[in-house]
Amino acid sequence: MQPSNRLIVALDLPQRSEILSMAKALSGKVGMVKVGLEAFIAHGPSLVSELREMGHEIFLDLKVHDIPRTAAAAARQADQLGASLLTVHAAGGEEMIRAAREAASDKLKIVAVTVLTSFDAAGFAQVGYKDDIPTSAVTLAGVALEAGADGVVCSALELERLAPQGGLRVVPGIRPAGAAAGDQKRVVTPGQAVEQGATWIVVGRPIVQSPNPVQAAEAIVQELAGA
Ligand code: C5P
Repeated sequence: MQPSNRLIVALDLPQRSEILSMAKALSGKVGMVKVGLEAFIAHGPSLVSELREMGHEIFLDLKVHDIPRTAAAAARQADQLGASLLTVHAAGGEEMIRAAREAASDKLKIVAVTVLTSFDAAGFAQVGYKDDIPTSAVTLAGVALEAGADGVVCSALELERLAPQGGLRVVPGIRPAGAAAGDQKRVVTPGQAVEQGATWIVVGRPIVQSPNPVQAAEAIVQELAGA
């Protein structure tokens, strides 16, 4: 895989015009762009189509978590929209993940979120999980991959424990050396994430809030090339 193809840029910007001009500037320079809940709810499937017309591959980060029939229908629609990656929650269970996987073509990769990186130990215990976060992440990844998920979304800090389970790895929580962490608590650099087994890294603010987003993206790609 080319180093630039490993970079997914999260287009976490409120205005459609800002999203489109950022995507245009990054066209041909990154592997994929990520459309999350905020952008999708505000701007809808037509935004995805417009980004695709610019030549971008799309990571549709909608974190599907519903009954199997609904999850399957959502995956089918994401596939028809031309997305390349769709997130589901591993906690939705084996039947839901299998239904989503079977509803879509091979062009759409289904990746399962294990444990949200915003959880701390206390908050995680509060929702009823018996095991700690790393152990639960391994269990949830196992369920998802067994059910046919193409990979998982995880923190770089979990990559080593998840390595024996195979599959694709989508890794957010990335900060180039010296960049502000913001609300991300456990961050690693782009190079470290790829060295530890990330298939793709997801980067938002260090690129989209940079005074020079293209330069910021190119610097990350250069770091990946050296990893
Ligand atoms: O700005 P930053 O680089 O922190 O953006 C990371 C992106 O990855 C955000 O769009 C965030 O929603 C997403 N994400 C995450 N942690 C997860 C799943 C997705 O940070 N576990």
